[in-house]
Amino acid sequence: MRTYSCLCGNTLFFDNSSCLTCGREVGYCPACRLVTALVPNEQGGFNCGHADCGAAILKCKNYLEHDVCNRCVRAETAAAEPLCDCCRFNDLIPDLTVKGNLLKWYRLEAAKRRLFYDLGELGLPYGTEEDGVEPPLSFDFKADVIPKKNYWRGGGAASERVYTGHANGKITINIREACDVEREKLRVDLGEAHRTLIGHFRHEIGHYYWDMLIKGRREDEFIAVFGDHKSPTYAEALERHYEQGPPADWQQNYVSAYATMHPWEDFAETWALYLDMTSSLDTAAWQGFGGTTDAVHKDVEPMIKRYQQLGVALNEINRSMGLLDLVPEVIVPPVVEKLRYIHDLVRAGREENGALKPAEDQPQAVAPESPPLAESEVAPAAAPPADAEQVANDATQLQSEAVPVLAQ
Ligand SMILES: [Zn+2]
Ligand SMILES: [Zn+2]
Ligand SMILES: [Zn+2]
Ligand SMILES: [Zn+2]
Repeated sequence: MRTYSCLCGNTLFFDNSSCLTCGREVGYCPACRLVTALVPNEQGGFNCGHADCGAAILKCKNYLEHDVCNRCVRAETAAAEPLCDCCRFNDLIPDLTVKGNLLKWYRLEAAKRRLFYDLGELGLPYGTEEDGVEPPLSFDFKADVIPKKNYWRGGGAASERVYTGHANGKITINIREACDVEREKLRVDLGEAHRTLIGHFRHEIGHYYWDMLIKGRREDEFIAVFGDHKSPTYAEALERHYEQGPPADWQQNYVSAYATMHPWEDFAETWALYLDMTSSLDTAAWQGFGGTTDAVHKDVEPMIKRYQQLGVALNEINRSMGLLDLVPEVIVPPVVEKLRYIHDLVRAGREENGALKPAEDQPQAVAPESPPLAESEVAPAAAPPADAEQVANDATQLQSEAVPVLAQ
C-alpha cells in the first residue's frame, strides 16, 4: 500500500477522510486514482487537490451519508452512479438501525477497498453484471437471523444462518466477522494463525477467480497442482474434514489446515497467501524497506524469498510488541509450486483484462438483522451451502458495541 500527500504537504494514508495536519477533507479521486485533498468548488462539490488533476468530483454516496467510504465519484457521472468504484459492488449492506452495525460496515468497506487496491495492482479483471463480466462480482454483508423461539429448526423463513463464502460471483460475509471480539474467538477456536477481514476478502476472491480463470478452461492444469476437485465432491470433503480434521502432517504440503479440506479451499487459501505476499511486498517497497512496487514480478521465487526474509524481521518486531507473528507461514516446496501456479494464472488474468467498463446504477438493498441470540439453540436447520466457509459451532453474538469512531 502506498501513501499520498495533502495540499499542505502532510502524508495521507489510504483510509484517511481528513488531513490531521490542516483539517481538510480528503478522499480518493477516481480520475488520478490518488487520495487527495478535497477542494470545495462553486458547484457545491470538490476539485481534486492534485494540481495536475483537478477533476470535478463529489463524495461517494456512502461517504456523504454514512462515512463508511472515503472515495469520490466524477461529478459528471454522479447522478447516474452515486456510488464509487468499490461501493457499487454491494448488493446487501448491514441493517443500520441495529446498534454497532455502522462500525461493522465501516470496517468491511475499509477491508474491501484494500482488496480492490490489491486487484488493481495485480491488474486482474472483475466487474458487475451490468459490466458484462462473468461471473459478475457482488457482495452481501449479512447477519444471522435468529428466530425468537430459541431454536433454529422450525424457524422457517424467519431464520437464516449466514455462511461467509462465495457462489457464482457473490461474496457473502457474516458481519459478526467485523466484531473484533467475535473474530478473535473464532480464530482461537479454529486454531488459526490469523483471522482478519482483509483475509476473508482475499480468500473469497480466490474462489471468484477460480470460477473466472480456471473453471471449464484450465481444470486439468489445476488438478495437476491442487488435486481433483471433482472427487471427492465438495460436500463429501466438507463432511470428512469436520469428522476427521486435517492430516497430522498438513504443514508439509499446505498453507493452512483448512486448505486440506478440498482443492478449492487449498486454492483459495494459497490465493489469499499470494495476495498477502504481493500486498506486503508493495507496502514494504513504498515504506522504504527496499524491493519494487511492481506487484507482479517476472518470477515468483524472488517474491517468496523476499517475503520470507521480511517475515523473519517483522515477526521479531511483532514478538517484541507481544503481537502475533505477521508472517506465520513457512512456505514449503509444495506450496511454492502452488504459488507459482497462481502467479502464472495472475499473469494470464492480466492478459485477459479488459472486463472493466463504466459503472452502471447499482442500488443497495438492506440486509435483515437478527434479534439478540436466545439462550439455547440447536443445530442450524440446513446444512451449510457448498463452498460455505469454516464457522464455529457456537453462535454467540455480541449484543452491543462501542459507538462508531469513523474514518481517520
Ligand atoms: Zn493537509
Ligand atoms: Zn485527481
Ligand atoms: Zn464508496
Ligand atoms: Zn473458501
